[in-house]
Amino acid sequence: MVATPIVAGNWKMNKTPTEACSFIQESVNLLLDIDRVKVIFLPPFTGLFDMHVEHPFSLGAQNCHWEDQGAFTGEISVGMLKDCGVSYVIVGHSERRHVFSETNDWINRKVKAIIAADLIPILCIGETFEQRKSGQTNQVLEEQLQDGLEMINSLEKLVVAYEPVWAIGTGITASVEQVSGALSLVRDILSIQFSDSNIDNSPIIYGGSVTPTNAEELISVPGVDGFLVGGASLNIESFTSIIKIVDKIILNK
Ligand code: PEP
Repeated sequence: MVATPIVAGNWKMNKTPTEACSFIQESVNLLLDIDRVKVIFLPPFTGLFDMHVEHPFSLGAQNCHWEDQGAFTGEISVGMLKDCGVSYVIVGHSERRHVFSETNDWINRKVKAIIAADLIPILCIGETFEQRKSGQTNQVLEEQLQDGLEMINSLEKLVVAYEPVWAIGTGITASVEQVSGALSLVRDILSIQFSDSNIDNSPIIYGGSVTPTNAEELISVPGVDGFLVGGASLNIESFTSIIKIVDKIILNK
């Protein structure tokens, strides 16, 4: 493994700022001896304000708008996030794509705005169950990567999260073969699209019902550089266990 492994906790619309603060403080105290894994907390926007974390911990946001400011009720700009100490922003999460109908074009605008602000996008890609069943997985991943990263010249600041939609919040995890197949496809697509960049340095992580029970098997899959964790990141014990498992296994990868 070349890229520093990442474990990112996507809390979605859960936890008040008070809860977020005590969760982060408690987790940090339980992870004092972790320094080989980047740990990213992604609370709702309200949990980002006045939250201070230090290496190897970072703050991430779950979404953003691509404009700097203006009449965009309910939206938030990358400048506002940066001012809160955010380093990462999730883009193209399946709930944004499928519940809020975000298109690859919107996702690409967000990726460009995030990179322009010197923050790091966590670009989520993944096929639905129907798309996998009808043999469209490769085409979907290719489209989401090519369109989502249009006009991006370098992979230097990017995390790609492969998150099959059918595995998110369902308790169904992709098999080792499915994860390894999808990740090597992602690497192939990126190496064609970014022929000048060193793909090995770009973290590609997996998300979809990761728990302390399956984390060891999944992080051992060649090419998996970490996890984007939803449900299991809401509980201190399960989230910190996943981080400790990744920290232990990467030594041997
Ligand atoms: C997610 O929200 O990105 C996710 C992977 O959720 P879960 O771990 O609950 O499947």
